[in-house]
Amino acid sequence: MAHKISEEGTLLLEQPFVRVPYENYRKIFRTSQKHVERELQPVQTSAAKLAKDAEAGSLQPAQAMESIDAMIARVENLKRKLAELNETAGKPTQDVMRARLQHLHGLSTFQDITDPEYNRWADTRLDRWLVDWTLRTGRVETAREIARRKGIESLVDIDLFTEIRRIEGALHVHSCTEALAWCSENKVALRKIKSTLEFELRLQEFIELCRQRSTTQAIAYSKKHLIAWQETHLPQIQHALALLAYAPGTSCGPYKRLYDLSRWDTLVRSFRNAVYALNTLSPEPLLHLALYAGLSSLKLRSCYVPHSKNADCPICDGAGSGPVAGHPTNLSHPTSLSHPTGPQGLAKLAEEVPFSHHINSTIVCRITGNIMDEDNPPMAFPSGRVYSRGAMEEMAARNGGIVTSPDTGEEVEFGELRKVFIS
Ligand SMILES: [Zn+2]
Repeated sequence: MAHKISEEGTLLLEQPFVRVPYENYRKIFRTSQKHVERELQPVQTSAAKLAKDAEAGSLQPAQAMESIDAMIARVENLKRKLAELNETAGKPTQDVMRARLQHLHGLSTFQDITDPEYNRWADTRLDRWLVDWTLRTGRVETAREIARRKGIESLVDIDLFTEIRRIEGALHVHSCTEALAWCSENKVALRKIKSTLEFELRLQEFIELCRQRSTTQAIAYSKKHLIAWQETHLPQIQHALALLAYAPGTSCGPYKRLYDLSRWDTLVRSFRNAVYALNTLSPEPLLHLALYAGLSSLKLRSCYVPHSKNADCPICDGAGSGPVAGHPTNLSHPTSLSHPTGPQGLAKLAEEVPFSHHINSTIVCRITGNIMDEDNPPMAFPSGRVYSRGAMEEMAARNGGIVTSPDTGEEVEFGELRKVFIS
């Protein structure tokens, strides 16, 4: 049972996978609901009026016909709109949800991790994570290409990130309009997660009016859009209102900071955080999260000690020779394996994760990277340095029975090595 698939553990990372299309569908549902409300209300009013007139005996047949025709036209119009919405947005989103749920369902049909179907499933998951990573780092074209080649378009969120890019692009050129439209589309959901993005955007628009010294407009704007937030944001509003008196050239710290253009970068970050929160997307790429889990099971204190590096360990491989906070390193023993700079590649990601907890540790030969056990026991030099018998035998065969420790340089006959017993 050692190879059993942990369904629960695997699903931990999959919430956004289902959430993104669900959020999409929720928006489409809201739109159709609005259409229904808008069209059916007048129909109900007309019908009630007809009934009332009929009861009072004041109903004119020609007028009644006209009114009924108008009602039919409205309902037909509604039907057309709903059908169109379903065709262009509703059905495609449902297809995406179905494809994703079916993909997740696959997980419960595999026997164990040696099932070849499971391997295929895991490959698809890795492709999804790669697309997620490329999308988050702004490489939309690459993401599209991977998704197309692997046939996983319905399993990745290219549309969402295209939208994010469009809105962030607008913020970069100092326009809040697009982001505010997004806020209004997601009003209810944003309120639920207590997002203050809309306030931040409104505040920025107010600041921009003050920057242009359009004070009349700025006052009108604050009445229309800022006052609504006074219950939760009164101090910020009062602080910002002082900009009516302080021009952009002010040297007064608190107001100078409000005019600072770096606020736009903060808005970009706030926007992205809000989109991620709304869709339960993690702030970090899913690929990183999956790697963290693996890296924390590999990371050992010895990864940061130059003379105990393991050739097969991805953390050792990039750990560098520079001192790593909290890990004593021996700088008098520089090794050719290490980089002169800080951690590289996976070792850099590994910096963030805790050390692994091994109840039963394995001993690994630092020359071959092979595990040392009873079949390949550790052999000790007189100095105490230990390497695998496999590595020593190979070295002895090449050097006429002489073995050399790569750490201390000591040379001895193979026969002088002592076998070490693991207890
Ligand atoms: Zn290591």
